[in-house]
Amino acid sequence: MNRAERELRQLVIDKARFLNASGLNQGTSGNISVRCGERMLITPSATPYETMTAEMIAAMPLEGDYGSWEGPMKPSSEWRFHLDILRARPDCGAVVHCHPTFATALAMCRKPIPAAHYMIAAFGGMDVRCSGYATYGTAELSRLALEALEGRQACLLANHGIITLGEGLERAMWRAVELETLARQYYHTLLIGGPVLLSEAEIADAARGFASYGVQEPQAEGMVKPAGGRSSGGRA
Ligand code: 13P
Ligand code: ZN
Repeated sequence: MNRAERELRQLVIDKARFLNASGLNQGTSGNISVRCGERMLITPSATPYETMTAEMIAAMPLEGDYGSWEGPMKPSSEWRFHLDILRARPDCGAVVHCHPTFATALAMCRKPIPAAHYMIAAFGGMDVRCSGYATYGTAELSRLALEALEGRQACLLANHGIITLGEGLERAMWRAVELETLARQYYHTLLIGGPVLLSEAEIADAARGFASYGVQEPQAEGMVKPAGGRSSGGRA
């Protein structure tokens, strides 16, 4: 394994630890994947993040032998939707899945998040959809997740949790934090009469700002760059 891949594996572990430390996730729920050349790197199944090491991260080919993996431990039980998303969405370099309390509470009620705050624009449309329900780890859950993610960078998974995408892991994690924040805010509006929704024109206006706003991916040597992404310079 070269230095860039080792650093990417360590970044996955650091972010997984952050998920739990920040209260976004608990126990061994949740999983993270990143695109690394022709392969996907993904957290191993049911492994405490505190004891996870770079060698334990599983590697799966993006093309070719579907579902095959390398590593000392089997990949996350959710490898199907991670792999299917990375295969279907060349713009996506990282996928975060977790079970944060407020977003999951909405998902348990199968309530999508509407345009109640301009931050909805960070997720690619007028709402964050809630997928249909299927058992964790199944091909059917992957199909439903991809459907709910159509044209979006995040979705709720019915009676389960959330998925967020990013051009890289920094952006996917940023969206996970923002989605749970939005879910918490929306939940509270439901307690006090419900929100006033923004119009398509108002969200489109906010979306224009998001083309240049949000946490930035580091431009480190050897990092996998987003398709069409800039490697240096550019205007704010
Ligand atoms: P893994 O421990 O297999 O990654 O599964 C956790 C999870 O969130 C299943 O949906
Ligand atoms: Zn899960």
